[in-house]
Amino acid sequence: MTRRYDLQVHTNASPCSSTSPERVATAAVDAELDGIAVTDHDTVANVEVVRETAPDTLDVISAVEVTTTEGHLLALDVSEPPPQADPLTVIEHIHDQGGVAVVSHPFDTLRQYYETDLAALANAVDGVEAINSRCVRRRFNERATAFATAYDLPTTGGSDAHFPMEVGRAHTVVEGDGTLADAIRDGRVRPSGRGRYLSGHIATKLHEAHTLSSRAIAALTSDQPLRR
Ligand SMILES: [Zn+2]
Ligand SMILES: [Zn+2]
Repeated sequence: MTRRYDLQVHTNASPCSSTSPERVATAAVDAELDGIAVTDHDTVANVEVVRETAPDTLDVISAVEVTTTEGHLLALDVSEPPPQADPLTVIEHIHDQGGVAVVSHPFDTLRQYYETDLAALANAVDGVEAINSRCVRRRFNERATAFATAYDLPTTGGSDAHFPMEVGRAHTVVEGDGTLADAIRDGRVRPSGRGRYLSGHIATKLHEAHTLSSRAIAALTSDQPLRR
């Protein structure tokens, strides 16, 4: 038996996404996924709403994309957001909660990435996100794959969706039954789908421009000064 999980999906609890939790659940069903990890930046605020909206057939994993002092880190199957600390401290918090730690787009130098102490990092994490659909350059995902191979770490995939049309573009194929967390720990996972979509980034820029212009319009039509 195999299942398909998109292990990185954002909702409007992330500043860079305007997708409602309800819309995320619908998009996951439309993409025929078996599960998703709701990975908002440093919060679990929308996990319960996604779970309540989604059909019982969709496994909704409570998760966080943690801003560490280096790169981003997926905390999967956690109920509390870990602190925004150094990667090893964050991983310890995730493990204390019984969760699984996966480095997210670890070598995407156009975003947050990891550069120091890679051996210590490899020793501590449970997995590596080897396909992230928002990596603009192919070599960012290739380097993540090489890192995982070098340290014999399980690999996952996620769309990093900030908009509904992105959900499922990359995902994780899970072999066998049981929980997703156990499948990652046992190495019964592999990434699938596409990296390098540009349309998501373009949509993000439009979203930012829209937010800014809405504020400008609000400022022009009221006596309040424009704040950024
Ligand atoms: Zn990220
Ligand atoms: Zn993300």
